[in-house]
Amino acid sequence: MKNITLLGATGSIGLQTLDVIEAHPEHFRLFAISFGENVEKALPIIEKFKPEWIVAKDNHVKQKLKTRLTGDYKIITGVEALEEISIHPKTDVLVNAVMGSVGLKATLSAIEHRKQVAIANKETLVTAGHLVMEKAREFSVNLLPIDSEHSAIFQALNGESHDRLKKIILTASGGSFRDKSRDELQYVTVSDALNHPNWSMGAKITVDSATMMNKGLEVIEAHWLFNVAYEKIEVIQHQESIIHSMVEFIDQSVIAQLGTPDMRVPIQYALTYPDRINIPSSKSLDLVSISKLHFKEMDFSRFPCLGYAFDAGKIGGTMPTVLNAANEVAVDLFLKGKIKFLEIERLIESLMNSHQVIAKPDLNTIQSIDSETRIKALNTASEF
Ligand code: NDP
Ligand code: MG
Repeated sequence: MKNITLLGATGSIGLQTLDVIEAHPEHFRLFAISFGENVEKALPIIEKFKPEWIVAKDNHVKQKLKTRLTGDYKIITGVEALEEISIHPKTDVLVNAVMGSVGLKATLSAIEHRKQVAIANKETLVTAGHLVMEKAREFSVNLLPIDSEHSAIFQALNGESHDRLKKIILTASGGSFRDKSRDELQYVTVSDALNHPNWSMGAKITVDSATMMNKGLEVIEAHWLFNVAYEKIEVIQHQESIIHSMVEFIDQSVIAQLGTPDMRVPIQYALTYPDRINIPSSKSLDLVSISKLHFKEMDFSRFPCLGYAFDAGKIGGTMPTVLNAANEVAVDLFLKGKIKFLEIERLIESLMNSHQVIAKPDLNTIQSIDSETRIKALNTASEF
């Protein structure tokens, strides 16, 4: 029986993690959860799973929750509280499914306490991948990817030695606007962007998929998780999202992981690794009825954010922190109707161009560059 601490329980990955926990009461128990502001979604989770600890974003949310909750729960608040439940002696597995770089310190602390860490929160690896991986090596912690592409690569690599690897091939669905021209992108709306053809996900990552920044973040995530040079990471468009990613070895063997698009599969694997257990509610893959799979070269001029992410990754230092923070602000402004879709990439490019890179940043430097970039992004966007 594993005690699970779930950060971001009210989100898309959070709710699917709860499905996995509920399907296997003999394997998992929900020990603690965190959520941001969504009390309406948090309440039924708490009533059903009765976690011992609950973290809410701030005191205001905590008070709102308390007035609606019956029963005796330990409710704490803030970013430090995320760390507190992540390293609690009763936590066996930390599932980090918050959105954004707010998840960074909890990941680092959980690694220091040698917890099993299942990570969906890709912004953590983008903003401070070198720090996370250094700690993971120092404390011999295996970071288990939840992101479907990285779960696929992890399974395809299957522990093979690094020098046999020729390249990693990440697949990209193309997002909500894959069939639109650059011209048509000028007029797209928030609701158009949120309409993803294959996956139902949180708002931020759905917009990231439409700009292709999601794949860009995943390139940086793959670089850190699998210690692979950017030159050995390729992205191809694959609209059906059936092949979740592939690995090519030096003998030209290509190993892929396939499945219907269902995040519960990689979530469950990260919880049961190295074991596998059945997953009753998921559909099995029917290749005959799918009949055809399609692949296409990525068009970097159509999707400039993918190029920005490769650039930021290769430049290194604080540049990925700037890329990530600028993107988080830009997507938030787009979702609030304050900037247009194509202004997302414009904002990111402008902040990257004006950034003076600091090599090998420590945690304080990363946090201050992250905050500075967010302020600059808001100022720059107000001039658009
Ligand atoms: P959602 O937006 O659906 O959920 C985000 C969760 O984080 C919610 O529980 C939210 O709380 C909480 N949260 C947001 N901001 C804060 C904050 N400042 N402090 C504390 N908690 C906060 O996101 P997803 O589930 O889609 O994605 C989560 C992570 O997983 C992201 O990093 C994403 O890139 C990654 N991922 C997601 C996939 C998917 O299929 N959805 C696939 C692969 C990776 P509340 O809503 O209560 O405010
Ligand atoms: Mg993914």
